[in-house]
Amino acid sequence: MTVYLVGAGPGDPGLLTVRGAELLGRADVVVYDRLSVASLLEQAPPGAERIGVGKAPGAGPTQEEINELLVEHGRRHPDGVVVRLKGGDPFVFARGGEEAAALKAAGVAFEVVPGITSAIAVPAYAGIPVTLRHSSTSFTVITGHEDPAAGEGTVDWEAAARLGGTIVVLMGVARIEVIAERLLAGGLPPETPVAAVTWGTRPEQRTVRATLASIAAAPVRSPAVYVIGRVAAEELSWFEDRPLFGRRVVVTRTRAQASELSARLRDAGAEPIEVPTIQVVDPDDGCTALRAALQRLGDGAYDWLVLTSPNGVERTFAQLPDVRAVRAKVAAIGPGTADALARHRIHADLVPERFVAEGLLDAFPDGRGRVLIARAAVARDVLPDGLRAKGWDVDVVDAYRTVQADVTDDDIDRAATADAITFTSSSTVERWLELAGTDSTPKVVACIGPITAATARERGLHVDVEAGEHTITGLVEALCRHWSSTSTA
Ligand code: SAH
Repeated sequence: MTVYLVGAGPGDPGLLTVRGAELLGRADVVVYDRLSVASLLEQAPPGAERIGVGKAPGAGPTQEEINELLVEHGRRHPDGVVVRLKGGDPFVFARGGEEAAALKAAGVAFEVVPGITSAIAVPAYAGIPVTLRHSSTSFTVITGHEDPAAGEGTVDWEAAARLGGTIVVLMGVARIEVIAERLLAGGLPPETPVAAVTWGTRPEQRTVRATLASIAAAPVRSPAVYVIGRVAAEELSWFEDRPLFGRRVVVTRTRAQASELSARLRDAGAEPIEVPTIQVVDPDDGCTALRAALQRLGDGAYDWLVLTSPNGVERTFAQLPDVRAVRAKVAAIGPGTADALARHRIHADLVPERFVAEGLLDAFPDGRGRVLIARAAVARDVLPDGLRAKGWDVDVVDAYRTVQADVTDDDIDRAATADAITFTSSSTVERWLELAGTDSTPKVVACIGPITAATARERGLHVDVEAGEHTITGLVEALCRHWSSTSTA
């Protein structure tokens, strides 16, 4: 029975430690507070009990009640994992020390998993190093929570001013005016640079630059980290400068496939919102035709196997336990499909320069012999018809079918307020519109290629972004270009 006091980091889910992620992944209970990030909670097993303590400052259970809750859960789950998830580091202005003391007093085992504190990481995400050679040789982290005017504060602000290094203030928004006055009284010059970083490391991050004299008048809302000192004038901004920074972008592909696009979007600074609209299931015949065709493939009946999507590859290979049965050349419609093949150790013999059926058709040799196309049910006939015209005998088998995935109204609402929506196939367009309709479609519609875009237009959407190269990378690049050319939008 161990209660883990785990630092969740300042907000960016990537800033959770490896140890923290491992514990969260097998937690029976997660006790979290206000600043916790939803995507971190998703890392806990679906069946884990999630207990929110404190929605807003001052609301929710008292610290004593939280301590009791931890003791109780620690006792109730003798072999279990109770994760007490706390923003930043659990021992930096987080009352982790009090929780540990309560657990110790009750004889409940506990461990501490330090986290990345906002005191250092939030300035870093604003491009501000808290120490810098020749500028600042120390940093002091101070709470702004105590009321200095009421005389109850134990913080010696004047002494901090005399230290000469960087001063980092947490929980200071409500009292920044008095804090600035005390630091001025302590001898800091009025022109001392100050940066206030709100919602640091998150898609909503904002940095306000001011001086000690002007900071009180600056529009800053909690949660914010103030950095006071020469380093606050450093201009090493990077997080807020990424091309898709602050943009919320909906990903509609299957849950299994979403991660690659989401990762690319995140790299470019966007916040991906995954609303998988489709699910890949067996074709109506339960793969009978596919299995029979693969049997013939193993017998050497085909000269070519043609695959037109990563899903097609996965479904085909799921029915083909031994890749040595692929006794034919293999054509992939594009690099995504070729990558999926490579994961099964198959090298695509043919990948066209244009990643659409027409491109594959152009690149395909004329010939006599047999071609097997394994693809989605309900697909265009351009490829089989074209290959037949080139002299091939063509068998088309359904490798899978896409159906509507389970999507909640909340998912649709979250997606509807996003800045853009991405479609990576015609079926994602169709399922999204069935689920949400055009009115709930975000303003900017981005499609991976001309076929998807044509489907979107036919269904009444205005397509603003079309990938030049019909790949995930091409799609993200096209979004970046769209917003760099309309940067005021
Ligand atoms: N244990 C936490 C601090 C908790 S006190 C840590 O180590 O980071 C809460 C204060 O932390 C907030 O009032 C704010 O000053 C700061 N803070 C935490 N996360 C923040 C974020 N993402 N952006 C800006 N400030 C943040």
